[in-house]
Amino acid sequence: MSFKITPSHLLSYHFCPRFIWFMYVLAIPEYEEQRFKVQKGKEIHENRQKHNPDYLWKKLEVVRRYGPVALQVSKEHLSGVPDDIVELDDGSLAPVDYKWAVYPEFVYPGHRMQIGAYGLLIEEIYQRPVHRGFIFYIRDGSRVMEVKISKWLKEKVRESTERIVSIIQGEDIPDVTGRKIRCLDCVYRNICVL
Ligand code: SF4
Repeated sequence: MSFKITPSHLLSYHFCPRFIWFMYVLAIPEYEEQRFKVQKGKEIHENRQKHNPDYLWKKLEVVRRYGPVALQVSKEHLSGVPDDIVELDDGSLAPVDYKWAVYPEFVYPGHRMQIGAYGLLIEEIYQRPVHRGFIFYIRDGSRVMEVKISKWLKEKVRESTERIVSIIQGEDIPDVTGRKIRCLDCVYRNICVL
């Protein structure tokens, strides 16, 4: 297989499996606004780093920061670059992701999968325990949510990755999402056969 599955694939897949087909099989260009949000999140993070390098880290029991690191494991077909990898005072490592979004009531399943994918990558590459990850929501300030990276979550990441690979390789169109409200926000709504 010549391509790798990234946390962005997982986010798209959990929005709607058919989205993967439009984006990676038909290669219809991805969602520009989403790309802008990711970029904006990084810019804001860099700005904050300059003015307040210790914000929230002590509260999260972070003892060391490694910064963004490109990660890839061939066994899982997974790759990705978390915004940061941190070491916690219990010796475990944790991925950090920044979202240009307002603080939600709960962590969205796609975001949970993304942080789980980073956790899986870190655990396999560094051979160190990963029990949790952090998502910073920075659109309305900087607030953090902790995500437990459980065995269950890692298994879900593996299952989703396999399914994405089969959609891309098989080139068969997945069913439409059962959650029709998502179609209202979908960039492919005008060309998707509903
Ligand atoms: S329009 Fe709806 S079913 Fe089609 S890809 Fe988008 S979310 Fe999925």
